[in-house]
This record gives sequence, C-alpha cells and structure tokens, in this order.
Amino acid sequence: MGKHDNLINGTWVSFDNYKDNVNPSDTNDVIGSYSYGDAGSVEQAVEAARAAQSAWADSTPQARYDLLDAVGNALAARKEEFGRLLAREEGKTLAEGIGETMRASQVFKFFAGEALRQVGDLQASVRPAVDVEVTREPVGIVGLITPWNFPIAIPAWKIAPALAYGNCVILKPADLTPGCSHAIAELLQENGCPPGVFNLVMGRGSTVGEAMVTHPDITAISFTGSVGTGNHIAEVCGKMKKKVQLEMGGKNPMVVLNDADLSVAVPACLNGTFFSTGQRCTASSRLIVEAGIHDEFVAEMTRQMQALKVGDALDPETQIGPVVDEKQLKSNLDYIALAKSEADEVIGGERLDLDKPGFYQAPALFVGTDNSMRINREEIFGPCASVIKVADFDEALAVANDTEFGLSAGICTSSLKSAREFKRRIEAGMVMVNLPTAGVDYHVPFGGRKGSSFGAREQGRYAVEFYTTVKTSYVFAG
Ligand code: NAD
Repeated sequence: MGKHDNLINGTWVSFDNYKDNVNPSDTNDVIGSYSYGDAGSVEQAVEAARAAQSAWADSTPQARYDLLDAVGNALAARKEEFGRLLAREEGKTLAEGIGETMRASQVFKFFAGEALRQVGDLQASVRPAVDVEVTREPVGIVGLITPWNFPIAIPAWKIAPALAYGNCVILKPADLTPGCSHAIAELLQENGCPPGVFNLVMGRGSTVGEAMVTHPDITAISFTGSVGTGNHIAEVCGKMKKKVQLEMGGKNPMVVLNDADLSVAVPACLNGTFFSTGQRCTASSRLIVEAGIHDEFVAEMTRQMQALKVGDALDPETQIGPVVDEKQLKSNLDYIALAKSEADEVIGGERLDLDKPGFYQAPALFVGTDNSMRINREEIFGPCASVIKVADFDEALAVANDTEFGLSAGICTSSLKSAREFKRRIEAGMVMVNLPTAGVDYHVPFGGRKGSSFGAREQGRYAVEFYTTVKTSYVFAG
C-alpha cells in the first residue's frame, strides 16, 4: 500500500485527493492509493509539456530510441512483477498479465526502431529548379486517455509512438486501473525521460479527461474507451479543430460454417469470447453458426465453457479471472437477466461466491437468439456470448455485418472460397480466419470501422499518421 502521485515535469506531485485501487479478485486487498487529480493538475502538466516540447521535438532519433528501448527492456526484465500488478488491479489471469506486459515491451521496442526509421519524400517539382520535400513533424502535446481493460498494453501503444515521433505526452489512465500506468511512468523516469516530456495525471474522466480534451494547448487526443465517451470527445475536438483518434466498442461476430473443423472453431470461440473475462473490445460476442453444425457446436462449446476454471487472477489454475468491479458485474448480470427473456436458453452466467470476496461470474452462453435482440446489438463487455443460427454463408455474412460496430470479425471454415469471400465483404477493420477475433500482432495496424473507430489507425507503422503532421517545403535553387 502507499500513496502514488502524479508525475508532472519530472516530479512526483502530491495532491489532497487519493483513491484506493482495489483488487477485484479479493476486495480486502488494496493495491495502493492513487492521486485523484483535477483540472489544475492538467494545467500544470500542460505548462511542463509546453516548456519541454521544442527540445524533445529536436532531440535526436538516437536519444528517443535509447529511451524507448530501455523502457522496453525493463518491461521484459520485470514482466512477472508488472504482470502481477496487472492481474491484481484488473483481474486478468497472471499468465495474461505477463503476456500483456511482454506485449507492451515489444511495442516500446518496435517504436524505438521507428524513431530511427523516420523518412520523408524528396520530389521533383512541376516547376524548373524547384525541389519539393514532404517531411513529418510532431503534432505537439498529445493527450492520451485510456480504458481499464488493457492497463499496460494500451498506454504503451499510445505513449511509445507519441514519444518516438517527438511529441510530449499527458497520460490519463482509467481511474479503475491507475497502477500499471504509474509503473510505466516510473520506468520512463528511471530511464532518463526529460522533465515535462511525459506527464501522468490520474483522476476522474469527467474532470481530468474533460480538462485535457478542452485544453487549447493539447493539440491531439488519442482515446480508447466506450462509444458514449468517444462520441462526446469527438464532438468537443471537432469544434476545437483538434486532431482526434477514437478506438471504441465492438459487437464482434464469429461465423462458424458447416465445414469448420470443430477442434479449431470451439477453442477459437472459447478464447475470443471468454478469455480475459470477455473484457476485450475484440471479444466475439455473436457466434453466428450455420444450421448443419449448430447443435454439435453448441454441445461442445457448452462442455468446454463449463470446464473453464473461474477464480482468483493470481491462482495459476485460474483460466477466467473476476469481472473488473461491482458496477461491471451488475451490468453483466442485468444483460444475463435480459437474455433469459430474449433467448431460448441461457447456460451459465451466475454470480459465483468463491473463497475470497471478489466479482466472480460464470461464463454465459445465450442459445436460440436472433440478431435483432438487445443482447446482440449492445456491447456487454463481459464473459457472455450469443449463438445465432443461420441457414447459409450469405445469411451469416448479412448478420455479421448487421451491427453499428466494425472492429474485428472472424470465420471458421475449411473453404478457401468462403474465407476469401468473407475477408472481402465483411465490414470490419480486422478479419480472422480460423483464429479468435481477439489477439493481434503489434507491428500492423489495429482499429475498426463504423461505430468502433474514428481517425487514423493505431499501432505498427500506421501510427505515424496520428502522431505526426505533414509539411511540404518548396526550395528554388535557380
Ligand atoms: P470509458 O469510456 O468509461 O473510459 C475510458 C477513458 O475515458 C477513461 O480513462 C475515463 O476516465 C475517460 N473519460 C470518461 N469520461 C470522460 C470525459 N468526459 N472526457 C474525457 N475522458 C473521459 O471506457 P472504459 O469503461 O474504461 O473501457 C471500456 C470500453 O473501452 C469498452 O467499450 C471497450 O470496447 C472499449 N475498448 C476499446 C478498444 C479498442 O481499441 N477499440 C480497446 C479497449 C477497450
């Protein structure tokens, strides 16, 4: 336990308001108390970033490489410790927490390399004796606003490109999971990040987040979170002509065709639906199954779902950790109650009382549903999935696309033709063939379409679009 302060201008700044960070596997375990900043904290962070911005923009690619590479190495070296902190504050299993920490390490190391690989274009002009150069510059001070469900990976995949391309950063993590962001801030400090280049302001979205979004000197906002908050941020940023990037919810379909190999399809659905307690924006929440394989699929899915061990995230036997907090658990249970009135059958989904006081829920499968039901239109964000029976591929594709979201989509089939057709016609940013809808690589773009995403893609080399602005220079040498 102990007090954890905001990091502003290279200094840990104490505040008069702190909030306890509670372990969802065991509510008697308080991880620490974390600063609950306000608009004044944001103002101080902006001042620090303003003072640091021009020197950081002019820093050598080598200096940025060294910082990001060192943080990446430190995360890998301390993956057990960070993975444990993540499991304690968010409720992912220890193995998932360690895996996510390694992912954050890879992201930092990837963008360390990108700092060295910044290129521009030198083009011939249409006029004589004129050269045209197209170069990229940092956007300035960027505000990063992150959700609770990937508390190391998402801050990492925003901080690393922001710093690699010469921007100063103000990070506001979700107030449910400030611990991992605070730990990353410590690593940046320990590895020589100059004062003001990276600032951490923890606190409530409606105060700290809102102050960042509305601050005229924060030139860009990268947000990941719910659709409601994202829409609000887009509106404010639009009015202020502020660059904005939004990654939001999903209602991701996984299609299982008659020719699918069930030994591939069921584990892919199980993983995509229930792992990380279903708290992934890329989770498969609509399992769209062709009639000929439907009953066999449901029987096998139910058998394997009921064998999953729900428990304390730190117990090595646990496969499904707790739900993140009481509010999210209540929301899941409300959807399960709704499913009882909408679906033909609800399997599982009870609140579980285990040895420790925590937010445990049995995974739930809703069978006999159709795509118009609320359980199939709204993001539940818990270990719950619906099965929708369809007659053929065409109906499966139409149902898969009949949603306001478009983040990730999957198909299980042994037909190259069906897989190809699905890849071409599905309205989603990411498509998986015989793989779970969740689980992506870090060196390629991540993001969706329709209501799921807005603005430039995150991750991989595509991140340069958001974190830089283009300048076209003309030089007459006649
Ligand atoms: P949320 O929208 O409640 O909060 C996200 C962040 O926004 C938090 O830091 C919060 O404090 C902040 N915030 C809240 N109100 C704000 C305001 N008025 N101004 C500025 N910031 C504000 O989301 P959550 O519950 O933390 O996360 C779950 C959601 O995130 C789910 O919908 C999930 O699908 C989505 N998500 C999407 C992706 C993706 O890449 N598409 C990844 C992970 C999570």
